[in-house]
Amino acid sequence: MLKTRSYQSLVPCYLWLNSLLRTVKQYRKPRRAWRECSRDALVHNAKTIQENLPGKTALMAVVKADAYGHGATHCSQLLEKNGVTIFAVATLDEAIELRKSGIRSDILIFGYTAPSDADKIQHFDLIQTIISEQHGVALEETGMRIRCHLKIDTGMHRAGIPRNQMETIIHFYKSDILAVEGIYSHLGSADSLDDEAVERTQAQIEAYDGLLAALQKAGINPRKTHLQSSYGMQNYDNLQYDYVRIGISLYGCQSDYSELTLPLQPVLSLKSRIALIEYVAEDDFIGYGNDVMAPHKMKIAMIPIGYADGIPRNLSSTNLKVSVNGVAVPIIGRICMDMMMLDITDLQEVSVGTEVAIIDSQDAHFSAEVLAEKAETITNEILSRLGKRLPVIYK
Ligand SMILES: *Cc1c(COP(=O)(O)O)cnc(C)c1O
Repeated sequence: MLKTRSYQSLVPCYLWLNSLLRTVKQYRKPRRAWRECSRDALVHNAKTIQENLPGKTALMAVVKADAYGHGATHCSQLLEKNGVTIFAVATLDEAIELRKSGIRSDILIFGYTAPSDADKIQHFDLIQTIISEQHGVALEETGMRIRCHLKIDTGMHRAGIPRNQMETIIHFYKSDILAVEGIYSHLGSADSLDDEAVERTQAQIEAYDGLLAALQKAGINPRKTHLQSSYGMQNYDNLQYDYVRIGISLYGCQSDYSELTLPLQPVLSLKSRIALIEYVAEDDFIGYGNDVMAPHKMKIAMIPIGYADGIPRNLSSTNLKVSVNGVAVPIIGRICMDMMMLDITDLQEVSVGTEVAIIDSQDAHFSAEVLAEKAETITNEILSRLGKRLPVIYK
């Protein structure tokens, strides 16, 4: 009697487990379009970067904008397990999302946070960047003890307290309210080795180093220091600060089509599946507008991914090619919000359900760099705009 009852009580549990399993399976095998990331590549990149840094320098993983489209929580959890101890994001909400997902490491917010949110910075134990004197004073006026890094403008003229405002900088270090744990600046031209760019970068490095020395002289320990991002690390690898702030390199990409100086591996592929195949007669129009007319009878495939997923619409007329089982297939017609078309006239082995890679991490012909170049932008923009409606799958 007892036995039967306990068996019966397991039935709802079994049903629930079953539905959970179904959901998980569905999630792992998306049908429409998805971002597919390689755990091994991400960990490999983090280790490779770390191994190539000077002894005292640590990797700060920049995971803003959903880790440049790579899924911030998943990515950060994996990196934290593999020894990364500090993460950086652009906004308060991004930082809170990481905390809530269980990240226990330091989290630095690069961007502006309103002083009225100081309680959240404190509650989630985040580190806020002070982006200007006014910002710092307003944060101080909240009376809340929050952890901060000072951002210094050494010549990029975007954000930061001007390098020569020593009094302001010292004031924040001596504040009883703000806990200033570090000081950093950002390079404006570290990606280029042109004479003019190098000159600008050298001037910024000197300004930053000069400031650190002046602080020491005034009896202030600047605490954590950092200046370089991906290109700063690659092009100025003799510098030795506490951190390098690495975004794009961590994901195995270059911003543009330049050579990588480290053996990094691209992490992300962007995939979809053919949802429909049809034949188009000669002289028929294809897609929106009447600029594309079939020059002959054509076989067309529609893939259910579009500019709302982050594929720039201005790629429509660039003769972009995507990978169908490794074969380069041109897109045709204008890219729509949720769909785009491929010219598969010459392809035999395709059917509804065939996988298509718009970015293929395993094949340089279909890299994010190629896509970015055709879209006349940088990979950072392409990757960071991949829409949230694309699930992220780590393999
Ligand atoms: C985004 C960002 C970085 C990372 O830049 P990458 O070129 O992607 O490595 C570093 N520092 C700051 C302040 C940033 O905003």
